[in-house]
Amino acid sequence: MAKKDDICSFCGRSRRDIRFAIQGIGGIVICDECVRSAGEILRENDFTAHAASNTSKLKIAKPQEIKAYLDEYVIGQDDAKKYLSVAVYNHYKRLRSNSERTAKDDIEIEKSNIIMVGETGTGKTLLARTIAKLLDVPFTIVDATVLTEAGYVGEDVESILSRLLQAADYDVPRAEQGIVFIDEIDKIARKSDNPSITRDVSGEGVQQGLLKLLEGSIVNVPPQGGRKHPDQKMIAVNTQNILFICGGAFDGIKQKIANRLNSRTVGYNAQKEKEAIDFNNLLQYVAPQDLKSFGLIPEIIGRLPVLTYLQPLDRDALKRILIEPKNSLIKQYIKLFELDGVKLNINDDVIDLIVDKAVEFKVGARGLRSICESILMDKMFEVPTSGSKELTIDVEYARQQLSNERLTRIQAS
Ligand code: ADP
Repeated sequence: MAKKDDICSFCGRSRRDIRFAIQGIGGIVICDECVRSAGEILRENDFTAHAASNTSKLKIAKPQEIKAYLDEYVIGQDDAKKYLSVAVYNHYKRLRSNSERTAKDDIEIEKSNIIMVGETGTGKTLLARTIAKLLDVPFTIVDATVLTEAGYVGEDVESILSRLLQAADYDVPRAEQGIVFIDEIDKIARKSDNPSITRDVSGEGVQQGLLKLLEGSIVNVPPQGGRKHPDQKMIAVNTQNILFICGGAFDGIKQKIANRLNSRTVGYNAQKEKEAIDFNNLLQYVAPQDLKSFGLIPEIIGRLPVLTYLQPLDRDALKRILIEPKNSLIKQYIKLFELDGVKLNINDDVIDLIVDKAVEFKVGARGLRSICESILMDKMFEVPTSGSKELTIDVEYARQQLSNERLTRIQAS
């Protein structure tokens, strides 16, 4: 410890103004305040170095490799996969280029957040989750419906970053390169196309809040999420390199697309153009102005420059989803039984029955699981104690298991 009348050799404060001081060789003294500041400088430098090395270590898969990886888990949706693959590739290329940027080369590549439009259960979340798995970066899913403008009941937009921090185990530099999937972005659309005079809680105010995150800024984040609290210590997170992927069903947007396409079609050439339009799948023509007429503010649309769509899933796609992906439902059930030493065979017509029921009840891909559960529940209960080594599920058994009572449950889900 230093002597009573010592002053800090770094900041010049005298003993009276400091809590304690440490003496070094040759009479040098450092006060507690300077030790703390030095610690902060060290930590900051460490973080920056860590962030830079993280960026250069980041494995950048090429767009076609990204798409091939997505193909293993997600059925169809080729356009969305292509857009996502290119956007993600460019995003990480940009990260690397900006971190290696020299004074001479001052072209800064802007980030390309993504928005996907598609009915619920068509694979938007699955695509985002699969990309995050490939890149091995922190990933979080947030539901835009829980977000409210500051001061209202609900979660502040900053809580999105709290979740990302949690996913990154509070490693700030890692979180700053993560991916956030914001689901149901359409639910924060403003209720009419006209800017509102009185702000609506769930709509425009939240969009304004989100804008700050999307455009890249330093945001103070409450580590535990929820509401900001005056005494809570905040963590500063830079969102400049966080990739935001938004998804929404945008119910009713097809009508807006159709109106736009119809109003454009005047004159002879236009008539031919109109004939070429596939009115059964209008989402493929989605354009930024449709999002605007739906109620997203232009600033938000501008910050989501990559716009893509997902196709509704038809019978064939549902069947493929059941059996083809690397971790398809059927493969998962086979594995579950295998863990008990049982070989599970599911006849082809059972697969068709499952798909038929999913189509009949309009539960889409999301409902496939509850249908499978209903069919296999009794066997999963019995087989571990029965000692049998092989089990075949045929269509009669499956039909019988899908008794009325169970079907009502699936329909209601
Ligand atoms: P969304 O985010 O579009 O509402 P999800 O990605 O959450 O839909 O899909 C729900 C579930 O349905 C997924 O977990 C997956 O099991 C299945 N699924 C949906 N679409 C696909 C697809 N195209 N390929 C494979 N599985 C799919």
